[in-house]
Amino acid sequence: MKILITGGTGYIGSHAAVELITAGHEVEILDNLCNSKRDVLGKIEEITGVEPKFYDVDLRDAEALERVFEESDFEAVMHFAGLKAVGESVEKPLEYYENNVGGTINLLECMEAYAVKKLVFSSSATVYGVQESPEYTEEMVTGLKISSPYGRTKAMIEEIIQDVAQSDPEFEATILRYFNPIGNHSSGLIGEDPNGTPNNLMPFITKVATGEIPVLAVFGNDFATSDGTCIRDYIHVVDLAKGHVIAMEQSTPGVKIYNLGSGKGTSVMEMVKLFSRVSGKNLPYKVVERRAGDLAEFYANPSKAERELGWKVELTVEDAMRDTLKYLQENEQ
Ligand code: NAD
Ligand code: UDP
Repeated sequence: MKILITGGTGYIGSHAAVELITAGHEVEILDNLCNSKRDVLGKIEEITGVEPKFYDVDLRDAEALERVFEESDFEAVMHFAGLKAVGESVEKPLEYYENNVGGTINLLECMEAYAVKKLVFSSSATVYGVQESPEYTEEMVTGLKISSPYGRTKAMIEEIIQDVAQSDPEFEATILRYFNPIGNHSSGLIGEDPNGTPNNLMPFITKVATGEIPVLAVFGNDFATSDGTCIRDYIHVVDLAKGHVIAMEQSTPGVKIYNLGSGKGTSVMEMVKLFSRVSGKNLPYKVVERRAGDLAEFYANPSKAERELGWKVELTVEDAMRDTLKYLQENEQ
């Protein structure tokens, strides 16, 4: 299949590109490089032997986007491009709505105009908002008490995709709700390399490991969990990327929604201990105030993806940490 990957030089998109190429698909990448670097293309080539064609295009630029669709004949689109910093989205909500929602509307318009009918979309567990149970299933009502404009852009895009599919019975969409992606390709060649200050736990752990930050701030240890720190469902990004390949290959008309997670929760303190064990060095940390809006605990019920797609995680949090250390080594040299 010939697939356009938006956001394909980014963290998850680049891993999806590798898995798609490895599975025999033809991949082209579009990215405006606002949070990734062009040299990722060469790294994808080093891993797969193929350098994907690249379009340095912003999804908000409707004319440039149309030229991409004019030039190629995609069968499918994997849509990763978007801004993802929760805190920044609170500061700059309009930028997030314009980029994520506006960019997606331009993309869907081009798909309609050029009769590209297959879409896989990067959504997030954040669309579940606050639920009574920490174990999230796809049937839960979403969109309630979402903690940030970022999360609302994901919920809105999910609704837009549902409406588009409603209007065109041939349209095929798979919405993948990611839990907490960590790790990187085992080669250490591609990985998470955010511009500016990171947002998530693993990039902060990495910065402490390299000495860029002296100590990890653990945001609160007075939550109602076994050790008082928050529990999340960490999923190796290579497992996540493989889930995309399977979802795309098994796509059928209509909208399907799947959680991509491990189904297992790990606390922040457990993450600190695991990283210390895997790296052989104690990771310095100190407990500080809670971060605004953090939920104590949530994790995926991933049984629908296993039942319907035959997908489940194969790698562990320790594997992800080992691969992260390899990525650090590769990027030191
Ligand atoms: P990333 O920032 O590494 O990748 C996103 C890519 O999109 C970047 O390369 C960026 O340059 C590009 N981009 C952003 N706006 C664009 C625009 N208007 N036009 C063209 N390119 C644009 O992020 P990621 O972690 O790889 O996330 C990929 C997707 O998965 C995002 O939509 C994100 O919201 C979603 N997601 C990520 C996580 C996570 O924890 N990483 C969790 C849930 C969902
Ligand atoms: N966290 C932390 N210190 C950090 C970054 C994150 O203690 O420097 C905690 C955060 O409070 C949360 C967990 O790590 O409980 C995962 O945070 P992340 O932002 O990666 O994921 P999210 O909370 O968005 O699921």
